[in-house]
Amino acid sequence: MTNKPEYIIIHHSATKDTDGSDFAAIKKYHTQTKGWSDIGYHWVLEKVAGVYGWKVGRAESKKGAHCSAGNMNNKSIGLCLVGNYEEEIPTAEAYALLAAKCKEVMERYPAIKDTSRILLHGQVGATSCPGKNFSLKKLLAALTNLVSESQTATEIQAEDQNVESAKEDKVEEATTKKIEVQYPDDSTKKIESINLAGNNYCKLREILPPLGFDVDYQNGVVLIKPNK
Ligand SMILES: [Zn+2]
Repeated sequence: MTNKPEYIIIHHSATKDTDGSDFAAIKKYHTQTKGWSDIGYHWVLEKVAGVYGWKVGRAESKKGAHCSAGNMNNKSIGLCLVGNYEEEIPTAEAYALLAAKCKEVMERYPAIKDTSRILLHGQVGATSCPGKNFSLKKLLAALTNLVSESQTATEIQAEDQNVESAKEDKVEEATTKKIEVQYPDDSTKKIESINLAGNNYCKLREILPPLGFDVDYQNGVVLIKPNK
């Protein structure tokens, strides 16, 4: 059976992320104990020897075995994070890597039109998966960060109407537009701004250089240095 992805479904393994290959253990469980043709998920994120990495599960073109509810196995990409998020809290790194994977998958499947098509398993089926400590909001925020860092971010006109409807939607989407900044010497510069839930955000890196400062980001610290 083929898979025509229109959604992304997020899971946790509900097992501890051990130092070894949990992917192999899950695959063995799915193929040998459950008798499936392959591991049920399309992608699995786990830490091996302390380093996160995505493992390729079953081919994306093949029907998954991770979310029978809503007929999702035929029309979604199943992403699984190894860990038990009923007990642990997902790390910021896990959210960032998951966001990057979602972005990559969405770029490959235009039918996964927007972030409202990223669903937690428990939003579709009667399960607590991916655990009560998993936050869709944090995942979407990590995704927004990626979009704002992306040089290829599509420029979308942020009309007031869109802002209003974004406020009403549970899942808020970021839009970008160019705004003009006027400096004390009356010079102006067009700067990309990200609009999220009615607020405009600009990058310090774009705003500050004409004022004589360069901005760098290292080890979680924003460094502002004179450039003249
Ligand atoms: Zn699940």
